[in-house]
Amino acid sequence: MRALRWHGRGDLRLEEVPEPPEPRPGEALVEVTYAGICGTDLHEHAHGPNLIREGPHPLTGVRPPVTLGHEFSGRVVALGSPVPGIEPGTRVAVDPCLRCGTCRWCRHGEYHICAKGGSVGLASPGAFAPLVTVPAYGLVPVPDGVSDQLAALAEPLAVGLHAVRRAGVQPGDNVLLLGAGPIGIAVLMALGLAGAAGIYVSEPAPDRAKRAAELGATEVFDPAVTDVRREVFLRTGRIGPDVVVEATGRPELVELAVSTVRRGGRAVLAGISGGAASLPLKQIVPFERTVLGTLGYNFDIPRVLDLVAAARFDPAPLLTGVYPLSRGLDAFHDLGSGSHLKILLDPKEH
Ligand SMILES: [Zn+2]
Ligand SMILES: [Zn+2]
Repeated sequence: MRALRWHGRGDLRLEEVPEPPEPRPGEALVEVTYAGICGTDLHEHAHGPNLIREGPHPLTGVRPPVTLGHEFSGRVVALGSPVPGIEPGTRVAVDPCLRCGTCRWCRHGEYHICAKGGSVGLASPGAFAPLVTVPAYGLVPVPDGVSDQLAALAEPLAVGLHAVRRAGVQPGDNVLLLGAGPIGIAVLMALGLAGAAGIYVSEPAPDRAKRAAELGATEVFDPAVTDVRREVFLRTGRIGPDVVVEATGRPELVELAVSTVRRGGRAVLAGISGGAASLPLKQIVPFERTVLGTLGYNFDIPRVLDLVAAARFDPAPLLTGVYPLSRGLDAFHDLGSGSHLKILLDPKEH
């Protein structure tokens, strides 16, 4: 079968690989219907390895080259052992978070911060291929009425839902969101669900700013020409936002997030990079501000699917392109050039 594999930085290859073997107990073989390209995938391609291990992954033993793709929907082809409620043919989304199941965090249900954790499509072969093997614990049945394409968007949206949960956003809160890239947009959509009253967005790229406004932002500021901190302060009764979500991973914005959130508020860091941020203690301790990180999701994918099935949440605006897997390299290029938000790859043969 054809798979899009990461061999190293700047070295992504569409190549022939063997089909996966019959699943072992606890595994499932899934036929991929759609698989989204994530910012993480772009980052591994442009600047990696970042999350990909050069040596064997401690949990899976997998080492590069590795097939990318961790945001996907599919149909179960075979199960290595019975799974209640799931059988061959069941439509599924997949929680791609690999976990050991025995560490302190797994035992507390915090599998997304497992001591040995990894992800399908980074630490094991992923979904940029017609077939993928996943742990059965990651299978999430897709409710009737939720399309395969929308189901493939559940994973990135779960990141937003989880971040908003971590942030403790309450109905009526004012929130400043720094960055309207894929994570920022997922957070923005989840903020609407959480009942945020004012959703202010700082985004310099015009197309992203426009999309944020269309998706429910109260007001979008261009930080290149606006003092965002001051403008949001003025619009929140000179209090400041209850929550600031940093969704770019740019270290210099962390200080802005902390100094902008109201006294007693929460600065939530959802973006990541290798850089170091400077945090003035005078901005944190005397004002009892909280700074916290948020990573991925933790039982959030089924919640997204249920919200979509209940017509409470429409992920469709996230989707800006569907490419056949054979054009996967073009899709990476086009996504990297900025005008897209989410591209799905379709690995079925055309
Ligand atoms: Zn991702
Ligand atoms: Zn664990």
